[in-house]
Formats: sequence, structure tokens, C-alpha cells
Amino acid sequence: MTLDSFVYEALPMRVVFGAGSIGHLPEEARRLTLRRVLVLSTPDQRELAERASDLLGDTAVGVFDRARMHVPRETVIAAEGSAEKLGADGCVAIGGGSTIGLGKALALRLGLPVLAVPTTYAGSEMTPIWGITDNARKQTGRDRSVLPRTVVYDPELTLSLPVAISATSGLNAVAHAVEALYAPDGSPVITAMAEQGVRDLAAALPAIGKHPSDPTARTAALRGAWLCGACLGATAMGLHHKLCHVLGGKLDLPHAETHSIVLPHVAAFNLPAVPRARAALARALHDDDPVAALKSLARGLGAPLRLSELGVRESDLRAVIDEVLTGPYANPRPVGRAELEQLLAEAL
Ligand code: NAD
Repeated sequence: MTLDSFVYEALPMRVVFGAGSIGHLPEEARRLTLRRVLVLSTPDQRELAERASDLLGDTAVGVFDRARMHVPRETVIAAEGSAEKLGADGCVAIGGGSTIGLGKALALRLGLPVLAVPTTYAGSEMTPIWGITDNARKQTGRDRSVLPRTVVYDPELTLSLPVAISATSGLNAVAHAVEALYAPDGSPVITAMAEQGVRDLAAALPAIGKHPSDPTARTAALRGAWLCGACLGATAMGLHHKLCHVLGGKLDLPHAETHSIVLPHVAAFNLPAVPRARAALARALHDDDPVAALKSLARGLGAPLRLSELGVRESDLRAVIDEVLTGPYANPRPVGRAELEQLLAEAL
């Protein structure tokens, strides 16, 4: 991609953003002509799902509160059973990437339209990427039919997101933007969104660390997460996402924490090869040294900084490197075994 020659394809979705916008759920369900909605959540967010169900009134036919990390196949089958029994014609997925992932699985298998209400900064609601885990193997794919039709972003729903999860989830979002800045299928639209997304999150996350209920900071963080999620949905991700996917899958590591640890290391490796991306990040982070700025952002937020903090051992790394080397992915700098060994040793 250069700024003079590119392809840009907008993804069709409606975004409703603002404090209190959960109140628009009934109207948004009506716009999608939904009459029998199944509300999805994790067990922890059951109360919120019931609130959504109450708002939807007769349009809600049930709550399925068993969404789990990595979308296990057995959970999908159970949710499908509920949807079919209740005659659902759509679902409202209210929660983080795990719940929205379950909604996408129902869209893929039953064709149910998804109305997403994200409550973390992971960005899944903006992408046509689905994943289902079977016997510890996560199968993923891209399919337009899983893209939520409407996304309702209500910053008030993120006030309860614990500071530690806000930090790692926010850094997970920043990683989408960093890789979009050097993606081969980027464009000026994506570059502008990525830069602004990082700017919003880098300003908001430290403020949330100090005052978790600050509505202005929560609004800026969620707006940044939306922009970064849109970057993830529109471009091919590189070494960072590949590494996190393999590390998470092979070693069963927590998603957002893995992203926040790995990001500065991949940025240090890739940014020298992409001066335009480096300059955009420097502007967004208000620092001539964007790698140092990413590290100090993570440190200031109290996010984990080393893979060893997640229990990774040196002896785990060979299998990770082998798998990264077997699957192709886009990256601005060629990566071989020696580079991966050095990068992961530093991240450890
Ligand atoms: P998550 O959805 O697993 O949520 C983490 C925990 O936080 C859950 O217990 C949840 O109930 C709780 N929680 C969520 N919002 C809350 C709130 N506002 N207040 C209090 N508690 C809240 O975590 P995540 O990081 O959002 O999502 C991670 C998953 O999403 C991973 O499986 C990842 O692979 C997937 N993901 C997919 C895509 C995609 O494009 N397909 C993109 C990003 C992430």
C-alpha cells in the first residue's frame, strides 16, 4: 500500500455511539426487523443481559448467559439449541470479545443477524472474523455474514470494566491499529482511523487508571477501541497478531495480556522498516520514540510486561516459533527463526 495507490472497501454496518445509547436497543432491533431476540452474555454479565432483555420487552425471547473465552464448540451447540427452541430470529451479544464471538458463531451456523453491544475494547464487533474452539484447536475464518449488523457503543457500560482489564484490553486495541498502519491492504482512511484510535486510547487509558469512573476518559477509550477495531476488520494483520494467536492457542494464555506484552517487541522489530507508520504512531503517542512510548504506556498502566509473568517458560518457545514459521502472514519485515528467537527471548 502507498497513499497514492490502494483499495478500500467499507464494511456495511451501523454504529450508534454515546452515553446511554443502550436505551436505543429496542429501536435498533426494530430497524433490523427483529421480533424474537436471544440475548447473549457471560455468566458474570447476566444482570446486564437481563437489563437489555427488559429494555427489549416482548422482542426478547430469552437470555443465554454461558458465553466463554475462545467460543468452545459445546457452548455454540448449547446456544444454538436455545435459539432454535425459542424460535429466535436474531441475537443481541452484550459483552466482550467472548460474547460477541458466540454471536458470530450463531450468525455463521444459523444465519442469525447480530446486534452487538461491546463492553470491552477488544474490537471483535467490527470484524468479519469468527472463531470456534474444538478440542483445544481454534478454527478461525473470515465471513461477511458474521459481521454484526448494528453496534451500540455505550461508554456507561464500560464503567464497571476493572482497571487491569481496561488496560490490557485497551492495549489489545492499540495493537490492531499499529499493525493496520503497516498492513499491505491499508489505505488513507485506515491510516487516519488507526492514528486517531491510538491517540484516543493512549490519552484515555492512564486517565481511567486514575479515575475508573471518569465518563470523558471512558468515552474516549471506547471511541478509540471502535476505530482500532475497524482497522482490524479492514486489514490483514502481521507478525504481532500471528504471534499472539499462536502463543494464546499453544500455551492457553489470556488474550488481552498476551497482546499487551508482545506489542512493544513487535513494534521495535517492525517500525524501522515502515517510516510512515512510525511517524503516525509518534504523532499519536506524542513521542519521537513510539516504541519507548508504548512500553511506558504499558508500564504506567500496570499491565504485565513479560511473558514469564503469564507462566511461559523458555522451553515453550521452540514449538511457538515452529508454528509461526509454518503459517504465512503479512509483515513488513521478513521474519526467520533467529529473529523470532531474539524477539521472544526479549518478551520472556
Ligand atoms: P472477554 O469477552 O473474555 O471478557 C473478559 C471478562 O470481562 C469476562 O468475564 C466478561 O464477563 C468481563 N467483562 C466484559 N465487559 C465487562 C464490563 N464492562 N464490566 C465488567 N466485566 C466485564 O474479553 P475480551 O478481551 O473482550 O475478548 C477476548 C476474546 O475475544 C478472545 O477470545 C479473542 O480471541 C476474541 N477477539 C476476537 C476478535 C475478532 O475479530 N474475532 C477480535 C478481538 C478479540
